[in-house]
Amino acid sequence: MRYYSLNGHTALVDFREATLNGQAPDRGLYFPEQIPALDPDLLKQSRYLSKAELSFRLLKPFVGSAIEDAALFRIISETIAFPIPMVPVTGLIQSLELFHGPTLAFKDVGARFMSRALGYFSGLSENSTTVLVATSGDTGSAVAAGFSDVEGVNVIILYPKGKVSSVQEKQLTTCGANIKTFAVAGSFDDCQQMVKDAFMDQELRRRYRLTSANSINVARWLPQQLYYWFAWQQWQDEGAIPVMSVPSGNFGNIAAGLLAQKMGLPVTRFIAACNSNDTVPVYLQTGKYQPGHAQATLSNAMDVSNPSNFVRIQALLGQSPAAISKWLTAYRISDATTKDTIRSVYQQYQYILDPHAAVAYAALSQYLETHPHARGVLLGTADPVKFPEVVEAAIGRQLTMPDKLLPLMQKPSQFTDLPPSFQALKEQMMSEQI
Ligand SMILES: *Cc1c(COP(=O)(O)O)cnc(C)c1O
Repeated sequence: MRYYSLNGHTALVDFREATLNGQAPDRGLYFPEQIPALDPDLLKQSRYLSKAELSFRLLKPFVGSAIEDAALFRIISETIAFPIPMVPVTGLIQSLELFHGPTLAFKDVGARFMSRALGYFSGLSENSTTVLVATSGDTGSAVAAGFSDVEGVNVIILYPKGKVSSVQEKQLTTCGANIKTFAVAGSFDDCQQMVKDAFMDQELRRRYRLTSANSINVARWLPQQLYYWFAWQQWQDEGAIPVMSVPSGNFGNIAAGLLAQKMGLPVTRFIAACNSNDTVPVYLQTGKYQPGHAQATLSNAMDVSNPSNFVRIQALLGQSPAAISKWLTAYRISDATTKDTIRSVYQQYQYILDPHAAVAYAALSQYLETHPHARGVLLGTADPVKFPEVVEAAIGRQLTMPDKLLPLMQKPSQFTDLPPSFQALKEQMMSEQI
């Protein structure tokens, strides 16, 4: 498999180079040259295969010969070595719980796959790699956990100070020795811009072999298609094909779902569930794509105003709002509705949603109101205990911290404050050996 840049100006690269580069030299996102045709038997057999076997067969064509089969199978098995259950919430809605990994959010899958792939590639070379990542909360934790014992790889994390939950902040600031965390006095968009500038800076590029671990990196993006297959493995309703509701920020997860659908996975429609950062819902309604400043909301991992993976959705579905709307509906859900949804779903069904899943639930409910025969799956992207402040207030009781979080909350935090400017980041990176 070869990858081209969606800006269209670069030579084709294999999976290894696409992973190591993160972004193409012309700043475009990498995209697979062809969407592999699915073996029709795989769809029928998928329910009878183990998660690891199915995942190996799905990802192999994307990785090609960049990783040997035995190593790829090991990497995949380690990546998904935790339960991913689908839990009925109502008669019409099920929740695919993607948060049973080490940092309690779905980004563990992409981050663990990428860290192991990079570890494999750096084992083949002399030079160490530096992963530079901007996070609105969960990416940084997943990347920090995924890379904390990977030799030959250093990690620099930027997060918007004060805009992540207490648990997220602990996960970001208590990492291993190969991980350096900057608390930026700005928004996630500021952090993302600083990272983008760093990638373009010749001096930094001479000093560091830089790569990104945001969902623009193919090694993080591609494994996310597996979630949708795991939902299908557990889908019992023979007569119906599911609608998938995806809490969306940078649109990497939902773009991976659309990729799975393009390969042949049965999905009726995708719902992009957004918070008040509604660039895509507005675009699909009005044809105007107008990103602004990211607004802080209760579902902070989705506080993105200019979703970087939207270009991949256009590559999959077409450029126009009409072409995209054939398969995708986008909703904007307010913080007030998010809180009401957490409260009412708990009262009616005793199911606890985190703020991101609550956005997906609310959007799916709105869709089901006008499509009474539809059946839906929402992607539960984070454990509610990651957002105790919001969830406890909504359900009116305390959450029990899982045992694995207790030692974390005791650890001292370590981070460096940074103003929201690329120059400040560059000075830090040039003056310190990171
Ligand atoms: C990152 C994240 C999202 C958004 O995923 P994208 O791929 O950026 O659209 C949703 N929910 C949670 C909990 C997240 O961490």
